[in-house]
Amino acid sequence: MFILFGLDSKISDTFAGENGWCTHCNNSIRWHYYKQTNWFSLFFIPVIPFQKKFYKACPICKQTIEIYQQEFGHFKSNHL
Ligand SMILES: [Zn+2]
Repeated sequence: MFILFGLDSKISDTFAGENGWCTHCNNSIRWHYYKQTNWFSLFFIPVIPFQKKFYKACPICKQTIEIYQQEFGHFKSNHL
């Protein structure tokens, strides 16, 4: 029998957060937040989530910074 195993990642919970300053492109920006969940997949279907990561990203230069879940939750509750 042939079993196809893999890894997959999904982006969710995207929103625009607080205003800030990007040190990479030197622009005044509004940070974009998102959550990335990595999954074990079986026949290309995600079945088991094994890792969640939280990020904020510059909308201009796409510089991405990993943040703590608490920070993500704090800004999410303030902007939804
Ligand atoms: Zn930037």
